[in-house]
Amino acid sequence: MAAAAPQAQRPLVPLYDAAGLTRACDDTIARARKTMQAMGAKRGAGAVFDEWNRLQIAIEDAANPIFLLGSVHPDKAVRDAAEPCLTKLTTLGTEIFQDEKLYARVKAGEPANPHQAKLKKDLMEGFEDSGVALPPAKRQRAKEIFDKLEELRQAYDRNIRDDPTTVKFTAAEMEGMPESYLKNKKKDDQGNYVLRLDYPSYIPFMQNAKSGPARERYYRAKLSEGSAKNLDLLNEIFELRKELAGLYGLGSFADYSLRRKMVGNTETVMKFLADVKAAVAELEKKELEELRAEKAKDAATALEQTKFERWDLSYYQEKVRRSRYSIDQEALRKYFPTGKAIEYVFAISQTLYGVKFREVKVPTWHEDVRYFDVLDAKSGNFISGFYLDLYPREGKYNHAAAFPVRGVSRITHRTPVSALVTNFNREGLNHDELETMLHEFGHVLHGVLSRADYNPEAGTSVKRDFVEAPSQMFEEWARREQPLELFKKVCPECPHLTRDDIERLDRARRYGQGTRYARQWLYAVFDMELSTNPRPPLAVWKNLESATPLGYVEGTIFPAAFSHIASNYAAGYYGYMYSEVLALDMLTPFKADMLDPKVGRRYLDTILSQGGQREEIDMVRSFLGREPSSEAFFAEITGKR
Ligand SMILES: [Zn+2]
Repeated sequence: MAAAAPQAQRPLVPLYDAAGLTRACDDTIARARKTMQAMGAKRGAGAVFDEWNRLQIAIEDAANPIFLLGSVHPDKAVRDAAEPCLTKLTTLGTEIFQDEKLYARVKAGEPANPHQAKLKKDLMEGFEDSGVALPPAKRQRAKEIFDKLEELRQAYDRNIRDDPTTVKFTAAEMEGMPESYLKNKKKDDQGNYVLRLDYPSYIPFMQNAKSGPARERYYRAKLSEGSAKNLDLLNEIFELRKELAGLYGLGSFADYSLRRKMVGNTETVMKFLADVKAAVAELEKKELEELRAEKAKDAATALEQTKFERWDLSYYQEKVRRSRYSIDQEALRKYFPTGKAIEYVFAISQTLYGVKFREVKVPTWHEDVRYFDVLDAKSGNFISGFYLDLYPREGKYNHAAAFPVRGVSRITHRTPVSALVTNFNREGLNHDELETMLHEFGHVLHGVLSRADYNPEAGTSVKRDFVEAPSQMFEEWARREQPLELFKKVCPECPHLTRDDIERLDRARRYGQGTRYARQWLYAVFDMELSTNPRPPLAVWKNLESATPLGYVEGTIFPAAFSHIASNYAAGYYGYMYSEVLALDMLTPFKADMLDPKVGRRYLDTILSQGGQREEIDMVRSFLGREPSSEAFFAEITGKR
C-alpha cells in the first residue's frame, strides 16, 4: 500500500531532463573544483578527512543519479546526455586524486580513530594509483589514459546496448516455447517472431526451443552482440592498461589492479584458478558426455556420430534437469508471482535485520518504478530508501543490477539510497530469477543498511573481490525450506513448494556445476590473460575456448560483449568465484536457523553496516570468529555439498 505524501527531507533521485542533467553535472563539477582549490589553499592537514567527505558527497549527489538515469531513463535524450557528463566526472575524479596539494594534506592527516585511519589508507592508495607520486610527464600520461579508458568503456557499452540485431523465427521454430513466453513477443506481418538479444528473450529460448538450427541462429546472433568494433575497443583498452601499469614500474595491469584486492597479487589468483580448474575439469567432461548421449537418444543417431554443440548445452541441460528432477523453470512462475516474490525478499530482510520497508508514492523516472522507505522496526525511525525498477523496456540497461544512488555518511547524518534494476517477467519469476532478485537485493541492503562514518567507505565501497559475497550469500534464501516457508504467509493463494520440491530444485541447481564453473574459470582466465599480457582479444579467446571440450564456434565474437572486462571488473572476474568462497563460508553461522535475528544482527553489525571502513578480512573474521575457509566452496562446485 502506498502511504501519504513524501516527507520533504526524504532524499530522492532528481528527475532531470537532458538539459537539466547537463546543467546539474556542469554546476557540480564547477563547484567541486572551487572546493578543491579552497581545500588545497589550506595549510596543514586540519579537518581534511571531513572536508574530503563533503567534497565526495557533493560529487556523488550528481554523479550517482546521473549514472542511474543514463541506464534506465525512458527518454533517449537523457540517457545520451549522461554519457558526456560521466566522462567529465571521471576526469574530475582523476584530477582530484592527482592534486598535489590535496595529496599533501591527506598525507599529513593524523587519523583520530580506526575509521579515519582506513579512510586515509584508501585515499593514499587512490592518490598513488592516480599517479600523483609519479614524475610530471608520467602523471600527465596517466591522466590521459584514465580519460581515454572511460571514453572507450562507454563506446563499448553503447555498442552492446544499442545493438539493433533482431532474429526472426517461424511459428514452427518456436516449438517448445511456453505460452507465457510467446504471448508478449513481437511478430512481423508474416507471423514470424522477432526477437532481440535481451536475456529474458534469449535464455528461455536456448533452454526450451526444440529446433537445433533455430538455437544455432540465435546463439550466433547473441555471440556477435556488440559487433567487431568492440574487439578493437577492447584491444585498445587492455593496451592502455598495460601502459598505465608500466608508468608505475609494474609488469602488468593485473599486478597494478590486484595489489588493491583481497588476494593481493597475481600469483594468488592464478593459484586459485588452477585449483578451480583441477576441481571441475573431469566433472565437466562427464556432464557433457551425458548430455551428448541424451542428444543421440533424442535425435535417434548413433552416439559416435552425435556432435554436441554449444547451442545444445542449455537445451539438453534443461531437458535432463526436467526429466531427472522434474523441474520446469517456466512452470515455477506461478509459484513466485513477481510482486509476491518481492514481498518474500522483504519479509526475510525485515526479519533478519530488524527493519521495515514502507512503500511511498514519489515521482520516478517511469510509471513502473516503485519507491520504499527503510525504517527501524522498533523505533520507526527513517534509515534509508530504495527504488525498484523491475521490468524490461526499450533502451533500458538489460541485465540485473543494484545502483548505489547515495552512500551513507554517519558523521553528516547522510542517509543512503539504492536502486534495484532488473528485467523480470511481469507475471512471475522462475527459480533462477528468484535467486537473481535475492542476489541484487543483497547489494541494495549492503548500500541502504550501511552505517559507515565516511561516504567514500559507504555500503558496497569494498574491495572488488569481496563485493559479491553478501549478495551471493543472500541467494541461499531462495534455496532452503525454512525461509521459503514464509512464502505461504506472503502468498497463501500461490501453489507452494514441498520439501521434496525444494530438495529437487537444489539438486537441479547443482546439476551442471562442472560445466558452469569450467565456464566461469574460462571467463576469469581470459580476463587474466589480457590483464597480464594484452593481445588481440579474439585470438586469445579463440585459443582458450578451442581448448575446451565444446570448442570454439567459428565466426562468434564473445569478447565483443563481455562488458565486465571493459569496465572496472578487469583483472577482477575471478572475484565472482573468490567472493563465493567467502559467501559460502559466511553462510555457516546461518545454517541452524536462517531467520535468526541474532545471527542477522551480528552479520549486520560486523559486515553489512561497515561498508569499507574496516579491512574485509577483519570483518569476515569477526563475523565467523575464525579464519575463513574455502572448504564449502570446493564442496559446492564439485557437487559434494
Ligand atoms: Zn552482484
